[in-house]
Amino acid sequence: MPGKIAVVGSNMVDLITYVTRMPDKGETIEAPTFRIGCGGKGANQAVAAARLGADVMMVTKVGDDIFADNTLRNFADAGIDTRHVATVPGMPSGVAPIFVEPSGENSILIIKGANADLKPADVNRAAEDLKRCALIVLQLEVPLETVYHTIAFGARHGIPTLLNTAPAQPDLALDRITEATYLVPNESELALLTGLPVTTADEAEAAARVLIAKGIQTVIVTLGAKGALLVTGSEVRLIDAVAVTPVDTTGAGDAFIGSFARYLVESGDLDQALRMAVRYAADSITRPGTQTSYATAEAFADTLA
Ligand code: ATP
Repeated sequence: MPGKIAVVGSNMVDLITYVTRMPDKGETIEAPTFRIGCGGKGANQAVAAARLGADVMMVTKVGDDIFADNTLRNFADAGIDTRHVATVPGMPSGVAPIFVEPSGENSILIIKGANADLKPADVNRAAEDLKRCALIVLQLEVPLETVYHTIAFGARHGIPTLLNTAPAQPDLALDRITEATYLVPNESELALLTGLPVTTADEAEAAARVLIAKGIQTVIVTLGAKGALLVTGSEVRLIDAVAVTPVDTTGAGDAFIGSFARYLVESGDLDQALRMAVRYAADSITRPGTQTSYATAEAFADTLA
């Protein structure tokens, strides 16, 4: 049985209203449709890994409202270990009201709610279970101090950590994340992190080398339809994307991370994990939605056959 993956990160409930147009200030109008979805980068990555059969534990916080029930049910349906999902009394859960116009354009508000309360002490409370994990996965939708603390924890206890630097965070301190084993930015996050332009694979390589020089062991830059670039101290390799007709690219980055984590933990083989991650992310963009677009292990195996 491959080792367990811990995701220390966010959960959100997407409140998606399909509008004919956005209301003006002070105006009330009817909207034709409403849908609730489960999201948050941490939860998305955990669900992708779990759908592919990984043993996943989530370290996160929910509020004491009905949205928490939704998130907990979603984790249970995915088979995710929720022993370190804590409820914060008097706080709302993380929610994202999303307005979708007929053109498909989105307007999104993010209320972090209980995610903003995930503290280093919560990571310490999960320490004994985290020490038994094969990989700890992090993103930037929870307080940065918690991210830094978890990376240092992993380094201290020999547990590999993967930091996905999403969403782009101007306050992220490069010097506090150099002990991360894997750093996975997209092009704009890498540009922000290094202050260098990142519009081509060559520029991505040059910027990733800056991170390697700072001490990060492995940098994987996701390049959208161009695939992903692996940069370590000794090798640089472009893994081409799989050609698909995109239906909805939201959540492709999270599909990539969740599947990469799952295959890395199973095989320990970086190359194989990357090849599977570009395939899984490409498959996810052929269906609408975020978590709804993540294939199960069986369905994904069919696409590989
Ligand atoms: P998002 O914020 O939309 O989730 P992201 O910016 O975090 O995405 P991307 O680099 O856009 O991440 O995509 C992640 C991975 O998904 C890419 O490395 C690639 O393997 C795959 N991917 C994304 N877009 C496409 C595409 N149009 N065709 C094929 N594969 C794609």
